[in-house]
Amino acid sequence: MPDFTLTIGGQNVAGAARPIPVIDPSTGQAFTESPAATVAQLDQAVDAAAQAFATWQHSSHAERSAALERVAGAIEQHAAELADLVVREQGKPLALAQMEVGGAVAWTRAAAALLIPVEVIEQREGKRIELHRKPLGVVGSITPWNWPLMIAVWHIMPALRAGNAVVIKPSPFTPLSTLRLVQIMASVLPAGLVNSVVGEAEVGQAMAEHPGIAKLVFTGSTRTGQDIVRRAAGNLKRLTLELGGNDAAIVLPGTDTAAIAEGLFATAFLNMGQTCAALKRLYVHESQVDAVCEQLAAIAARQVLGGGLEPGVTFGPVQNAPQLARVEELVQDARAQGARIVCGGQRLDRPGYFYAPTIVAGLSNGARLVDEEQFGPVLPVIAYRTVDEAVALANASSMGLGGSVWGEVQAATALAPRLECGTVWVNGHAEVLPHCPFGGSKMSGVGVEFGLDGLLEYTQPQLLNING
Ligand code: NAD
Repeated sequence: MPDFTLTIGGQNVAGAARPIPVIDPSTGQAFTESPAATVAQLDQAVDAAAQAFATWQHSSHAERSAALERVAGAIEQHAAELADLVVREQGKPLALAQMEVGGAVAWTRAAAALLIPVEVIEQREGKRIELHRKPLGVVGSITPWNWPLMIAVWHIMPALRAGNAVVIKPSPFTPLSTLRLVQIMASVLPAGLVNSVVGEAEVGQAMAEHPGIAKLVFTGSTRTGQDIVRRAAGNLKRLTLELGGNDAAIVLPGTDTAAIAEGLFATAFLNMGQTCAALKRLYVHESQVDAVCEQLAAIAARQVLGGGLEPGVTFGPVQNAPQLARVEELVQDARAQGARIVCGGQRLDRPGYFYAPTIVAGLSNGARLVDEEQFGPVLPVIAYRTVDEAVALANASSMGLGGSVWGEVQAATALAPRLECGTVWVNGHAEVLPHCPFGGSKMSGVGVEFGLDGLLEYTQPQLLNING
């Protein structure tokens, strides 16, 4: 294990708050400690970022792109170490952690390649009006525990690409891969451009309130997002909020469900279901519910559960004890409602936070497992009678991150726009891409990430109105 430190002003810095034990979800035991920052250290990190910003804001686009290319190369050089850390602290199987590191590199390169155009709004004799985009200043980033490395990259890289400096606070459940990422980045970037602080909610709250932070990008639960909105009012911080989801998928009547079962399972149970844009409610015509349940249960039965570093493992534990307790509670509630547990429905009899992949039938909207985001390895399969009813049930949610329609492509594509969400997939789900804007509608978020639209969220428009 390397020496984990905070990074402040380009230096490795010991945490001044009490260290946080980091638990391996496959054993339930702490395997190391993370340094933790005080609010005074957060202030130092914001000061260091502000100093770095004073120079970085004047850097050229070519310099920023080149810096991010250096970062991508440095991540690649440390790929094996980062993947190993992701497995240990987050719990996912190694192949998925390697995919996460690969995604981190791809998103870094995509941010490096983006160009921010100057828009000429008016051009005539004696008059020229241009719209420029300036960086905002210090960007605060707060990340969750499900894809810790990838989401850190999603926040940091566009912020730097647009000319800002960053202070990032990872989840205290999964701080290590972010601490290493920032150390690695600091080795190839100007001092203070990216800083890390680890802490519980109070450090996040101090970031939301901080007058020196111009913008906050947050990925996490809707409830925390609401708290951030309230606290950010002091300096009217710019906010990008990627919040909870409860994505519905509709399988059109008559679809060959054997052909799509693998896709349904993979996108519902991606990262053990702990993915914001995973498929979380599956609506199937009443005539096909039993068949779909059996097909999904057969795929669940093939999963090899175990620690992410064990060979052959395809399915890891839930990341943390509170999340496991929540999954258990929702399945318990479903049982009490008379639901049919098609497969799974229990913890494994072994140490760690393992929960068998679970399919639940016999529920509809109104049950907690359907109405609330489970964020774990359990999927409710819900019967509908007509497609209009399915759309109404899918849309009857305060969330609106993603959704999908599965079936004959023209019919599915025609239905897709009726879903109330930020992304609709046809014959797919949960695919996020570096060049495509991604964000939630309703209470799933504010703003978008990725692509030029995502990059512009890290900028302030400035209109240049030239006469003469
Ligand atoms: P969480 O909201 O509990 O924590 C996220 C981060 O916020 C952590 O770093 C935490 O320490 C910090 N935090 C907690 N309370 C805070 C406060 N009051 N002020 C500021 N910061 C605070 O979320 P989680 O349990 O880590 O993540 C799971 C949730 O994240 C799920 O709801 C999931 O859907 C969502 N998520 C959304 C996306 C997306 O892109 N929309 C992606 C991943 C996860």
